[in-house]
Amino acid sequence: MADIYQNVRIPTSNDSVYKDECLYSFDSPLSENGLFICMSTFHGVGKDHVARHCHLNPGKNIFLHISRRRIPVPVDPNVEPTRVTKMAIGVEGGFDANGPKRFTFEERYAIYIHPNVIIPYPDQASTLPEHVKQSADAIIAAESAFLKEERALMNTTWNGEIRQESKHAQTLEQLNNDRKIPPNGWKCEQCDLKDNLWLNLTDGAILCGRKFFDGTGGNNHAVDHYYKTRYPLAVKLG
Ligand SMILES: [Zn+2]
Repeated sequence: MADIYQNVRIPTSNDSVYKDECLYSFDSPLSENGLFICMSTFHGVGKDHVARHCHLNPGKNIFLHISRRRIPVPVDPNVEPTRVTKMAIGVEGGFDANGPKRFTFEERYAIYIHPNVIIPYPDQASTLPEHVKQSADAIIAAESAFLKEERALMNTTWNGEIRQESKHAQTLEQLNNDRKIPPNGWKCEQCDLKDNLWLNLTDGAILCGRKFFDGTGGNNHAVDHYYKTRYPLAVKLG
């Protein structure tokens, strides 16, 4: 009998693990049916797209299923806000550590073998081959591809555990365009949003933050600006 797990790989730091959002839809681990991460390609797909993924990727039908629940944290005005968790940054934009919305997340995992086998993980991990367990653990621990991209864009202000000098800082061009940055009263130049703003260090543009798949966040103007201009560095204002 062929080893059904033969295509399961353990992601390395060179692999991009797409565990935040479906490749084809807006499904995420927070969606009702969670997200299925292929344990061979590390692409995430929503429930409705699992069959399509398997059709396009023969033999790659083993998934880590991630289901995430948002649990509001009661706000005690006497207590200093806790630092945003890495996970919260990935799904919420999280930089808004002092904002009104604060959550913790509970995640549940399973190994899903399309079309019909579900193995709760790690509860029934003992039934799995070693490399499948290692793959699941590595996917759970992996920095999401989304976060990697975010860090590449916003390197100088990253507030997480890893902080390094951006390669762009050495060669950053700053345009002499007479733009003055006021000390306060900022708003997005394109949509007038007043929070979650980013200052582009090349041209001084002030634009709003990323729009997240659950509809929260800004209107994505800073990121759009980056894709248009490729000006690589921005800092969070306020
Ligand atoms: Zn905007």
